[in-house]
Amino acid sequence: MPSPAYHAPDTITGAIALLAADPSALPLGGGTDLIVQMRSGRIAPGAVIDLKRIEGMSGVRREGDVFVIGAATPCSALKGDAAFSAAWPGVVEAANLIGSVQVRNRATMAGNLCNASPAADSVPALVAAGATCVIAGPGGVRQVPVEAVPVAPGRTSLGPGEFVVEFRLPVPREGGGDAYLRATPRTEMDIAVVGTGVCLVLDAAGTCMAARVVLGAVGPTVMLVEEAGAALVGSRLDDDVLAAMSRAVQAASNPIDDKRGTVSYRKAMAGVLARRAALIAAGRAQAVRGISR
Ligand SMILES: Cc1cc2nc3c(=O)[nH]c(=O)nc-3n(C[C@H](O)[C@H](O)[C@H](O)COP(=O)(O)OP(=O)(O)OC[C@H]3O[C@@H](n4cnc5c(N)ncnc54)[C@H](O)[C@@H]3O)c2cc1C
Repeated sequence: MPSPAYHAPDTITGAIALLAADPSALPLGGGTDLIVQMRSGRIAPGAVIDLKRIEGMSGVRREGDVFVIGAATPCSALKGDAAFSAAWPGVVEAANLIGSVQVRNRATMAGNLCNASPAADSVPALVAAGATCVIAGPGGVRQVPVEAVPVAPGRTSLGPGEFVVEFRLPVPREGGGDAYLRATPRTEMDIAVVGTGVCLVLDAAGTCMAARVVLGAVGPTVMLVEEAGAALVGSRLDDDVLAAMSRAVQAASNPIDDKRGTVSYRKAMAGVLARRAALIAAGRAQAVRGISR
């Protein structure tokens, strides 16, 4: 592996300048995808720009009604933030399914997103939560929904020299709950053949007021299935409604057929996991409200 230059700027401006100076340079988060790809010869950047020393890019903080997660925050650190874990347990569980403890101590959700694997675990949960990301680059700063970043396997909508600075998640609405579930051929250290993130809001009577149902690994990019969310709204998540939601999920799924899972298996599992995730999210919302069904 040819050695790229290594830079660790301590400001966002410095990172922008370094990325602009070498068009082949790439941002470095935890390196758990980037270093593997460099070692295998898939990519050969002239420089890697380590974002971890930039002030404000590591850690979770609250700014008014928004949780801000620095893009260089390792996944394992999310669990350590009690307020964030209570607010978004589905996002925290998704980030903590990635790899092993060692991997999660390095890996970031920004790297998970920008690697643009359709099977990235944290991305469906972030999309279900309605997260946005703040992107900086030579043209300034912009904010986009997380689902606008991956455009194809291995490709993002980020322009030359742009990088993710932080994720922004709203403080959940009263009666909100989220969950993420995945299916893997092996129990540990495997990537999802299906991932489902669900976020919903229940009113005081247990009726679903809003729902976002999101799929990973069953299409070229993460998929927000609006018909599935709409199927839940106005209901108390009875069996008929959950069956309609599962059908919407299966109809939207467009998976590949490979040795890790057939098309029919992935479609069937997408429906099953979305139903289970919806019930877990509802249980969490009810626990917060103290509703019994
Ligand atoms: C053993 C092993 C097991 C794994 N298991 C899983 C798993 O179960 N689920 C799963 O989803 N993934 C898994 N992965 C993949 C990987 O760990 C994750 O995708 C991880 O979240 C990547 O984050 P990172 O910070 O290490 O990214 P890096 O490797 O640093 O970067 C990945 C890509 O994103 C770019 N990038 C990084 N940060 C930014 C930023 N802030 N802005 C713009 N671009 C950026 C880099 O230039 C690179 O192209 C596994 C990897 C390994 C090695």
